[in-house]
Amino acid sequence: MAAPKKLIAGNWKMNMLVADGVALVRAIAEQGGDASCDLLVCPPATILRAVADAAAEFAVAVGGQDCHEAESGAYTGDVSATMIRDTGASHVILGHSERRHGLGETDERVRAKTSAAHGAGLTAIVCIGETEAERDAGQTLDVLGAQIVGSLPDKGLSAENTVIAYEPVWAIGTGRTPTVDEVAAAHAHIRACLVPAFGDDAAAVRLLYGGSMKPENAADLLAVANVDGGLIGGASLDAESLLAIAAAAA
Ligand code: PEP
Repeated sequence: MAAPKKLIAGNWKMNMLVADGVALVRAIAEQGGDASCDLLVCPPATILRAVADAAAEFAVAVGGQDCHEAESGAYTGDVSATMIRDTGASHVILGHSERRHGLGETDERVRAKTSAAHGAGLTAIVCIGETEAERDAGQTLDVLGAQIVGSLPDKGLSAENTVIAYEPVWAIGTGRTPTVDEVAAAHAHIRACLVPAFGDDAAAVRLLYGGSMKPENAADLLAVANVDGGLIGGASLDAESLLAIAAAAA
């Protein structure tokens, strides 16, 4: 089976007001219209609709950064998957390490959120990754396997509605990255771990690498086998940087 088309996804985190976000997505769309990979930006919830509206006429998809697993109810401050879909977004990032480690989000919770995202018609970008202590203890592949089993629902999975992002926690926002051999080993293991859940579709599930991906290292990281794109934080806040990464994916 041919490798899936690459996906370059920007996680804007808690940055950008409406005007900045609309200007950034327009710049990305106008300059990156001929990108040979798929482009996605994930703005904060407050500007999702404005960015989705601005992106609607272009080939740039828009996603949320998290959702609650419930459809509606007394969950002050949260947004549901259906609410994210209602803005015009098509994707949602789930289980980012800043939520797993900063807010105590468990695999079980990520699994429930992934089901909710699928139910609302969103593609879930499920993040997994080891801490530095886990890597030093030689536990990386075991941690990744357990996170996959724990974070993915038993039913309703497809290569269209699920993307996996491998993001070593120690590489996020630090300027440090694993070696290409370490990325290759992690992604090969993740691909193998997807087979029980996805069957023949496992080869078509997009596996993104995330963690200090920048224009300078993107070509090397994106050339690794089983790396089907990138999830980019800091470098996605600048159109030129994101598009340089997208160009490296071609
Ligand atoms: C992220 O937070 O998903 C991420 C990969 O961040 P950065 O690119 O800044 O390391």
